[in-house]
Amino acid sequence: MAIIIDGKAVAAKVNEDVKAGVAALKQKGVSVGLTVILAGNDPASEVYVNNKHRACTDLGIKSEIIRYPADVGGAVLEAKIKELNADASVSGILVQLPLPKGLDERRILELIDPAKDVDCFAAKNVGMLALGAPKLLPCTPAGIIELIKSTGQPIAGKRAVIVGRSNIVGKPMFHLLLQADATVMVCHTKTVNLAEITRTADILVIAAGRPGLITGDMVKPGALVLDAGINRVDGKLYGDADFDSVSDVAGYITPVPGGVGPMTIAMLMRNTLTAACAASDN
Ligand code: NAD
Repeated sequence: MAIIIDGKAVAAKVNEDVKAGVAALKQKGVSVGLTVILAGNDPASEVYVNNKHRACTDLGIKSEIIRYPADVGGAVLEAKIKELNADASVSGILVQLPLPKGLDERRILELIDPAKDVDCFAAKNVGMLALGAPKLLPCTPAGIIELIKSTGQPIAGKRAVIVGRSNIVGKPMFHLLLQADATVMVCHTKTVNLAEITRTADILVIAAGRPGLITGDMVKPGALVLDAGINRVDGKLYGDADFDSVSDVAGYITPVPGGVGPMTIAMLMRNTLTAACAASDN
């Protein structure tokens, strides 16, 4: 039976450190602030934004949510982002995705000053990550690395398999695992014989958005299974792993909810502190 990795507990530890860091900066007269831009009224985005706001408040980070209707024009967002880039009290800027249809997501993300890009989505930050010299870390993959470290199991030399190749999870996860000296393979919808590949993984990261995609017979005995999937089925949350059959085989597994999710927000808080520290050093 797998050991369950308690994401809430690991996140609480990170949050404690961030809270102390925020307090130390405040003593030096430096404020730490996160501004979130939310366009439209997607209910899931509303939940995520409120969670981020609560986390900021708990850690002493000034939180601002700027809301726009779904038909907001790109020019309005552009003007606001430029204003926030120039505002020294704003350490981090986050544009909640997905943006309403008709807005050019890539163009808008690129308007954020890379030093304030706490989601690590801007091309410059993605490039620095690929070069192995990231300034800010991609939140969900960085949270997964912390969860692996919390088990005390090594990453170096291990075979890691990632299921999913999105810009938000799969691709940045590849870079972080590679930098931690794992041998990494990335799978996706066109991968042939997925189970054959996942069965070779000492570390299996799943980010496909398909409830129950990975079953126990697809997992190597003793593997670490990190499940980023968040799937709502009949009002209940499920990961991408079939929890019961996978936890019979794996050595460690993250639950959904309570695994990767809390770490994503904790890493966002940590990035906001990192950005504030870097700005105060300038
Ligand atoms: P996405 O839809 O952008 O990408 C999914 C990826 O999975 C794609 O690359 C696709 O090729 C791959 N995939 C889908 N079905 C597959 C299959 N049957 N076999 C192999 N590969 C398959 O999704 P995303 O943004 O990367 O998110 C993935 C999941 O992680 C979602 O459930 C999302 O809600 C969740 N997520 C969680 C957090 C968190 O904080 N815990 C953060 C981001 C995303």
